[in-house]
Amino acid sequence: VISGVRLFMNQPAQPAHNQYSGSLFIVSAPSGAGKSSLVKALLDSIEGISLSISSTTRTARPGEEDGVHYHFISEHQFEALREDDGFLEWAHVHGNYYGTSRHWVESEMAADRDVLLEIDWQGAEQVVRKVPNVVSIFILPPSLEELERRLRGRGTDSEAVILKRMGAAQLEIEQARRFDYVILNDNFEQALLELKSIVIASRCRFNQQMARHGDQLKNIGL
Ligand code: 5GP
Repeated sequence: VISGVRLFMNQPAQPAHNQYSGSLFIVSAPSGAGKSSLVKALLDSIEGISLSISSTTRTARPGEEDGVHYHFISEHQFEALREDDGFLEWAHVHGNYYGTSRHWVESEMAADRDVLLEIDWQGAEQVVRKVPNVVSIFILPPSLEELERRLRGRGTDSEAVILKRMGAAQLEIEQARRFDYVILNDNFEQALLELKSIVIASRCRFNQQMARHGDQLKNIGL
């Protein structure tokens, strides 16, 4: 909440003028599609975009740090935040709760920064309904066999977890048709180039350019 006013109301997506110079990007994928590596490489290669750190009730995997990969919280804490309208979106994914901090996203966008949400398709749907001009991107694996190979290759999940995620993969893949952009992650460098291109192209949209370079554009007669 900024100045007592909630920026993202429950409103239908509309092609209205965006009041921020920053854009909101959503990246979704079935687990194992390579989303996190692509997002990490994107953030390392481009300025001015912040990644939202979600809250989850999942336990941390080896190597994951609280406040870096996720805010690891209890179900009780999650419920309290949800009751308090603390989430821009939330979902139950593979047996755990995940949510995006409304306050964090609002304050980043109010500071004119681009924000990236790495969330599942259920969360993406909620955000698209609430926030105008969201750019949604879905990352697909080249095949189901490759998806399973990548899930096993991580070596961080139990067999039961891998089977659960493979079971959910087909349904998740079908959600790709709801997204603005689709990236087939066969070759990492090509997929990264495509992801970067989407972000850069979005920054060149008329409204974004007006918000970022309004004075300069006025000087040349716009
Ligand atoms: P993982 O447990 O592998 O880190 O994530 C499982 C799934 O939950 C992934 O598809 C991931 O994108 C999604 N996820 C992570 N954070 C959020 C969130 O804040 N909201 C929603 N809706 N999904 C999330």
